[in-house]
Amino acid sequence: RMTTVGFIGLGIMGGPMAANLLRAGFEVIGHDVVPAARERLAEQGGTVAAGVAQACADADVVITMLPNHPQVEAVALGEGGILDSAKPGVLYLDMSTIRPQTSRLIAQEAAHKDVRVLDAPVSGGERGAIDGVLSIMVGGTEEDFDAAASVFAPLGKTIVHVGPHGAGQTVKAANQLVVGGTYALVAEAIVLLESAGLDAGVGLDVLAGGLAGSRILELKRETMVARKFAPGFRIDLHHKDMGIVLDAAREAEVALPVGALVAQLISAARSQGYGQLDHSALLMVAENLSGK
Ligand code: NAD
Repeated sequence: RMTTVGFIGLGIMGGPMAANLLRAGFEVIGHDVVPAARERLAEQGGTVAAGVAQACADADVVITMLPNHPQVEAVALGEGGILDSAKPGVLYLDMSTIRPQTSRLIAQEAAHKDVRVLDAPVSGGERGAIDGVLSIMVGGTEEDFDAAASVFAPLGKTIVHVGPHGAGQTVKAANQLVVGGTYALVAEAIVLLESAGLDAGVGLDVLAGGLAGSRILELKRETMVARKFAPGFRIDLHHKDMGIVLDAAREAEVALPVGALVAQLISAARSQGYGQLDHSALLMVAENLSGK
């Protein structure tokens, strides 16, 4: 029998991830609160469920790809949610980026209901979701990780079991720290190059081939220099992620001064009205600081 995946949260990331599962031969029953997201699933050959309970009823695997922990808690633990509705023995993969303590709480609650849980946040952006080449960082038991392998395979390229429940989220927090910091510095590099009257695109082409090269320079330098800031990954979501980073640092009693600075730059981006733009819009914050 074909494996049935219940997929909740069909946005920028969840939409193309569901499409890749369909292409790989899974049956996908999906739900999203936004009608356009549901329609896209139907066009891709998936089945639209009336709600979370219906998406879970026949599922062997349930995936959530939701904005933040309140949505994940509501969908997983709420009345008529995943733990209420899923079949015993189901594998529940939360691929959203949320705080690690919520992943641990859900794993505890799920254990009472014979639901197996993994936190499996991703990196690679919209492009990585479309191409099925995400990095997937997985927290939970080795046994459940092995059981999820065939579901992760069409979604990702680098798929790593990093530790117990919540560990995937901690690794994702580290990822967001590096991504945010890199964007902030690439933004400053563009301001520096352009203020000297140089073509920033040409300058960044050289950087991309040297030690300063990164996936961000590779994939985003052209749109950044062209000031194309359609998301992608929204500033509002990165703001949420920097909160997770700094909470984790506080809990672990470590200092992340550069991370704190990046968090403030992302806060400034929101205050300046860029919350719905891609995080590469940090460039406008860097320009505004210098009156450019
Ligand atoms: P998004 O806002 O495009 O998608 C989230 C979807 O969840 C939306 O379609 C929304 O309607 C739906 N939703 C919200 N509450 C719901 C509910 N109660 N029931 C059903 N559906 C609900 O966001 P996204 O960019 O796809 O990000 C999703 C998650 O993935 C976030 O945690 C984000 O931090 C993470 N992430 C995003 C990217 C990226 O590049 N966009 C990359 C890696 C990780």
